[in-house]
Amino acid sequence: MVKELAENSLDAGSTQISVEVRGGGVSLIKVTDNGTGIPSGEVEFAFDRYATSKIGDLDDLESISSLGFRGEALPSIAAVAQIDMTTCADGEKAGTHLGLEDGAIANRRRQGRSQGTTVTVLNLFRKIPARLKFLKSVATENSHIANVVSQYALAFPEVKFSLSIDGRVALRTPGSGKLLDSLVEVYGAEVAGNMIELRGEAAVPRVTGMVGLPRVSRSGRGYLSFFVNRRWVNSRMLARAVEEAYHGLLMVGRHPMAVINISLPTKEVDVNIHPTKSEVKFSNERAVFSAVYRAVRQALAEQIPVPHVEAASKPVFPSAVREAASPAYVGASSDLSPSPPTPTTALPVLRVLGQLDNSYIIAEGPDGLYLIDQHAAHERVLFEKIERQRSQQEIEVQGLLEPVPLEVSPRQEAELWSHYQDLAEFGFAIEPFGGKTFLVRAVPAILHDRDWAGMLRELLDSLSEEDKSNWTEAVTSSMACHSAVRAGGALTDSEMRELVRQLEQAATPHTCPHGRPTMIHLSFGQLKKDFGRP
Ligand code: ADP
Ligand code: MG
Repeated sequence: MVKELAENSLDAGSTQISVEVRGGGVSLIKVTDNGTGIPSGEVEFAFDRYATSKIGDLDDLESISSLGFRGEALPSIAAVAQIDMTTCADGEKAGTHLGLEDGAIANRRRQGRSQGTTVTVLNLFRKIPARLKFLKSVATENSHIANVVSQYALAFPEVKFSLSIDGRVALRTPGSGKLLDSLVEVYGAEVAGNMIELRGEAAVPRVTGMVGLPRVSRSGRGYLSFFVNRRWVNSRMLARAVEEAYHGLLMVGRHPMAVINISLPTKEVDVNIHPTKSEVKFSNERAVFSAVYRAVRQALAEQIPVPHVEAASKPVFPSAVREAASPAYVGASSDLSPSPPTPTTALPVLRVLGQLDNSYIIAEGPDGLYLIDQHAAHERVLFEKIERQRSQQEIEVQGLLEPVPLEVSPRQEAELWSHYQDLAEFGFAIEPFGGKTFLVRAVPAILHDRDWAGMLRELLDSLSEEDKSNWTEAVTSSMACHSAVRAGGALTDSEMRELVRQLEQAATPHTCPHGRPTMIHLSFGQLKKDFGRP
């Protein structure tokens, strides 16, 4: 009911909508707006079944631009509750008050009010106790109501929404027209600050809105909002498009936050396929899917440094760094040949050709083809970076807003007791909290939006399993592994180029920290041989 009433207010062009509920909506639902109002002579029509002012002819049915169009909401509400409407249209001196009981008009009078409409629903299902039983608890109904109003507040940032639940202000948006302002009210400033805007390129369909950085991911899909021509809809297909775009950026079981607006010609979407109008059918599903996927992927790729971009002070020409970093170059200076021999560890400059199976980067070098395992390669790059930063005490630390309790198993606890202070040099601030709980106050920045708790547990397990003599290496490789891009994650061209550039600069580019190869090389000579060329 709250959804239908709010939609009516939006269809009436309101810029202010206030919703008041009591008793989970059973005692009272009151929606007040400043929209067009209904002229005195037409108020009764609003309660006639199938009467709507929003469809003029058959053609209108083919391209519906209003949220309501069936003329069913008000008569249906009137059938199960007491309903009062006070409304005043533009140019009228006084408004109209209409009271309905048991679906029939009980009273009508002139009543003063400014332009707009107030609908009050009282004593829901009083005469139908069987239906009352199907309502959830007051708290649950309240949370559904808050969600509906929140969704429309996100869809219509230019409308001032207010929601009061049992006399308490639950939501109030400024109506500034900026999605970010609505997001701050709905999800809080902390989350809103971690959302990035989609570019909203002019295209059909046009996709605008904001999406969350991976660090504000959620454990459910309840934070994915989709609006098609400003209608709030549920869609598995759209949810999948967004989640695909986050591929490789979120841990398994985590879901992104997003507010996605899709605009397309009304003829290309059928809104009349679902009883509550909350599902729609696109005439070209594929086009919508890929438009949403691309918009989200592009915004993420532009804003998230995956892999992390090194400081600009690094030499542009990769071999210069290799000379300094690679132990294999020791002695190379005594070689008198004009160009130094290529040490076995060095990697030539590679040209990225593409990505295979979202897991391997295909690149061309002067001497053949390279197939690079993106996860292993990134692990190698990060391993050396973490090692470098740790030895210079330059690990970037990210403080947590609130200390996070870390629960560990008895075995892990024993390890953590002996190591928690040593973890400080890697960027972890951990302290015992009693029992098997430790408090984590800060984590290495590269792990901030990753599963650092999982990383710590794995590390502790590996320490207790085998007597790891090289503690520093164990922590470093565990951190690298957990912050590296995963296999199965789509990378943009620039992400791949950046990763390959960093690998070219690595001291030991050919293996990951665990000793597994980062790449497979197929020389042109080998290729010729395989193709049987002389
Ligand atoms: P529908 O929205 O499908 O047209 P409803 O039963 O929800 O059907 O509303 C019936 C009619 O009442 C609407 O077509 C509209 O003309 C009028 N109406 C309802 N609520 C409002 C409102 N808040 N402001 C202006 N007109 C309204
Ligand atoms: Mg309606």
